[in-house]
Amino acid sequence: MSKGIAKRILVTGGAGFLGSHLCAALLEKGYEVLCLDNFFSGRKANIVPLLSNPFFELARHDITFPYSAEVDEIYNLACPASPVHYQFDPVQTVKTCVHGAINLLDLAARIKARILQASTSEVYGNPEEHPQKESYWGRVNPIGIRSCYDEGKRCAETLFFDFHRQYDLPIKVVRIFNTYGPNMSTNDGRVVSNFILQALNGEDITIFGDGSQTRSFCYVTDLIDGLLAAMERSGESPGPFNLGNPEEFTILELAERVISITGSKSKIVFRPLPSDDPRQRKPDITVAKNTFQWSPKVKLDDGLKETARYFREIVRS
Ligand code: NAD
Ligand code: UDP
Repeated sequence: MSKGIAKRILVTGGAGFLGSHLCAALLEKGYEVLCLDNFFSGRKANIVPLLSNPFFELARHDITFPYSAEVDEIYNLACPASPVHYQFDPVQTVKTCVHGAINLLDLAARIKARILQASTSEVYGNPEEHPQKESYWGRVNPIGIRSCYDEGKRCAETLFFDFHRQYDLPIKVVRIFNTYGPNMSTNDGRVVSNFILQALNGEDITIFGDGSQTRSFCYVTDLIDGLLAAMERSGESPGPFNLGNPEEFTILELAERVISITGSKSKIVFRPLPSDDPRQRKPDITVAKNTFQWSPKVKLDDGLKETARYFREIVRS
């Protein structure tokens, strides 16, 4: 990038939940953004507010096929993240993770761009170590219904680190823990959007299992700050970096908070636990804190209120 010219950034999966917030944040920083998406789980509505910006470009493209562009940095977010979506077409999920990673790494190597991979806490599987540190290798079922995503993302991490070692490619791998907020789609199927929509519609809140399993929920603005910091302030370090909120809640506690925040009369009901559902999840974020001084700020109740406000508008309209 020459001095005085804004950086050009490629965001794959830019019409999705996290991608749309990332595109907006990059434009806000004065960069040019090229968003690629095949709209499998993302929505045009998420990026409509960006389309009038002359520094924003959108291309419909499936990253399992090669793509070419001249950019300075690449954020690879393309991949369905909700279990409902990634289990809908598991073979395509593996292709998106693996062929997608190869295509984007090949591109990055050719144009000498720095590339960040949106990996996931799912690489830890159903963890025996708690909280999870980056040094933990995980406990993943290679042949279960979550494997297309978990193993796909693990293989993508392998590819990123092999390109880094073999071709000296500057990479960043971030492992994102459960993140929620506006722009999640109403059919996303993840727990926060499900519970809020059920509460707003006066429907039963569906807890899978007995609700004693735990997750740590990060609000989207914190996560986007973490992605930018990992890309821009982590020096030469490739990661991996855990990004998430270390405050841990049971799914039952989450349901109770959603009911209280929305003032809903919904009842809690219990449904069978899907197979391989991890028992517990809590990031150790010491590496991100020490490397690029990042830690999340938004409390669960505040983030849930913002998210409920967003979904209330959608339910109304
Ligand atoms: P999302 O489903 O809302 O967004 C993913 C986007 O990728 C969608 O717009 C989808 O249409 C697009 N996409 C899917 N396959 C594609 C393909 N083959 N080619 C081009 N585009 C494709 O999910 P999200 O929550 O925004 O997640 C974004 C990324 O962050 C994903 O890679 C996900 O694995 C990772 N992540 C998210 C979370 C979370 O809690 N939100 C947690 C861990 C990891
Ligand atoms: N879950 C639930 N009810 C729902 C959706 C999810 O109880 O309507 C549970 C799910 O079984 C899991 C947790 O909430 O234990 C988080 O699920 P999500 O799909 O949001 O993310 P992930 O399992 O990938 O962490």
